[in-house]
Amino acid sequence: MSKKKHLYSEETHIVHGIEHSHTTTMDLVPPIHMTSTFRFEDSDHGAGVFDGSAGGYVYTRIGNPTVDLFQEKLALLEGGEAAVATASGMAAIAGTAMALAGPGDNFVACNAVYGGTFALFNNHLRTYHMEPRFIAPCNANTLGRVDALIDRQTRFLFMETPANPTLDVINIELWAYLADQHGIPLVVDNTFASPYLQKPLALGAEIVVHSATKYLGGHGDIIGGIVVGGKKWIQQIKADYMDHFGPSMSPFNAWLILRGLKTLAIRMDRHSTTALKVASWLEKHPRINRVYYPGLASHPEHLLAKKQMKQFSGILGFDLKGGLEAGKIVMDNVNLCTLAVSLGDCETLIQHPATMTHATYSNEELKAAGISPGLVRISIGLEHPDDIMNDLETAFSLIGP
Ligand SMILES: *Cc1c(COP(=O)(O)O)cnc(C)c1O
Repeated sequence: MSKKKHLYSEETHIVHGIEHSHTTTMDLVPPIHMTSTFRFEDSDHGAGVFDGSAGGYVYTRIGNPTVDLFQEKLALLEGGEAAVATASGMAAIAGTAMALAGPGDNFVACNAVYGGTFALFNNHLRTYHMEPRFIAPCNANTLGRVDALIDRQTRFLFMETPANPTLDVINIELWAYLADQHGIPLVVDNTFASPYLQKPLALGAEIVVHSATKYLGGHGDIIGGIVVGGKKWIQQIKADYMDHFGPSMSPFNAWLILRGLKTLAIRMDRHSTTALKVASWLEKHPRINRVYYPGLASHPEHLLAKKQMKQFSGILGFDLKGGLEAGKIVMDNVNLCTLAVSLGDCETLIQHPATMTHATYSNEELKAAGISPGLVRISIGLEHPDDIMNDLETAFSLIGP
């Protein structure tokens, strides 16, 4: 196997990954290895594969060549040593948390996170006696409070940036420094940015998790996840959770994500420029109270976003004058924008966090996380920006005077 690593610019790596000399059939695109198990040449070879002294695969839950290609590619793009792919983004987050902490342990997390992550931390991990210590808001002023929450049983820090659905931008470098001071890892959910726009490991985080369902796959046709980091962490997460709890990725899904990933750079460029256009238009619109988008100079952490991200990605939120009632009229009357959760697809998706993706939060928890009842979230797709704005304008006009 010939491996050429880190020789090219990022856009080229996104298309090619690590070049392997392919099979004798000389495929341009590697085939899908749809097999549950793998043959051994003889009993010695089988024993050798099991104890690691011989090369080869055993069983697809533990390892598969197509899934390996996806793992290698993400490790390359995130600048990590290794990666483990999972059945979903939630499996990546659950597996990481369960491998890093145990009963009696705690971890500190920003409070504005994906709704499923919040439910996992706040409900399910508590039943395993793992205590989430939430912090809000997560800016430079509250860093001292994060520090004060860390004790000897704290196993990791967790953040999502930009965060869901408030588009808060959190300082990765500062949190990583703090984690390092306490000898624990910072885990960053990099789903909203993708490795093309933001590289948490280069800023000091030790572990990156993704919902590959979103920008990595990019086409809304799979569910998948991945954890990237140092070999030591990935081995621990694999051995302590993934291999035997079993949320492994299907080779077919890995293949589809690899296919989607090739256009990551051009998709993210386009998502970002269109989102900035739509956000700037919304900000001046008389129907709008507030727009949440890290690319706007009015965003409280715009300078930080500029520093730690290459561009600002495709997700934005807005509060309409008239709150939830007005928001409902818009969501029920858009035609091009599709009323659906998820994000990072080619199609523009619109949804209402308080009753949809963040229905796992109580009213008090929504308030604490800064999620207003009228907040509408849009994942800007790859359509022409004028069509997206025209569609919104038509729906706005139905709100009434
Ligand atoms: C969607 C999402 C998840 C969960 O991923 P699934 O693939 O749906 O399990 C986690 N974090 C963020 C930021 C997400 O957007």
